[in-house]
Amino acid sequence: MYKVDSDYHSKKKYSAKSAVLGRFRGLMRNYEDSYQHKGLRKKLIDLLREKGISDDHVLQAMNNIPRHYFLDSAFDKIAYEDRAFPISEGQTISQPYTVAYQTQLLQLKPNEKILEIGTGSIYQATVLAEMGTKVFTIERQKKLFDKTKLYIFKSRYPNLKFFYGDGFEGLPTYAPFDKILITAAAPFVPPKLIEQLKAGGKMVIPLDEENHQRMLRLTKNADGTTSEEAFENFSFVPMLTGRKG
Ligand code: SAH
Repeated sequence: MYKVDSDYHSKKKYSAKSAVLGRFRGLMRNYEDSYQHKGLRKKLIDLLREKGISDDHVLQAMNNIPRHYFLDSAFDKIAYEDRAFPISEGQTISQPYTVAYQTQLLQLKPNEKILEIGTGSIYQATVLAEMGTKVFTIERQKKLFDKTKLYIFKSRYPNLKFFYGDGFEGLPTYAPFDKILITAAAPFVPPKLIEQLKAGGKMVIPLDEENHQRMLRLTKNADGTTSEEAFENFSFVPMLTGRKG
């Protein structure tokens, strides 16, 4: 009877220990940017160029950022395929082509103030920060926002700030912005975000049409109206109202 008890206790101890180790491994994932990763990344950049991305600043920024750091380590080997991948909470890290396409449409200049809606994996926000802009990014899901506290490049990008909130509301305290980027499928153009755009500022927004989103670039005119340019169709996860705890 005594023996059974002691086995029971040692098993319990063991599982508690492995749970702690598991969590530790989760935090201590391997952040190595090997020659193999760099080689695959270079190939991805060449592919993006072939697909029509021509802005060298965008391609250079994406070449500088280890995309595999933003994915679960299970995806390490395939992180440089031109594909979207699941992150947590039913969300996705956008396909590299989509990231490059949206970033190119923004026509960024160093030191511009950018608002990004949908932080997700932080990959897109990192590309914006790497391009020397001041980035304000909002996420509505608390669990994803909380992960930003473990962001590996915190000290490398003091120009990147994280917010937990509803992107439809924007960030009035920090407005106006030179550029606004929406990285989820928007059901309509959020009026408060147009208000928070500078005159001459631009918004890149994937706007819902049937079964896909049409990429639009809106430019705010001096009289507050907007001019619209339409580009390719894409597929995004939905932009949803309100915060999710
Ligand atoms: N830019 C991200 C893409 C993530 S997918 C990346 O590089 O990984 C889109 C993200 O938008 C999801 O994390 C989703 O939770 C978030 N989102 C959806 N609606 C939102 C809203 N109203 N405000 C803020 N974030 C929102």
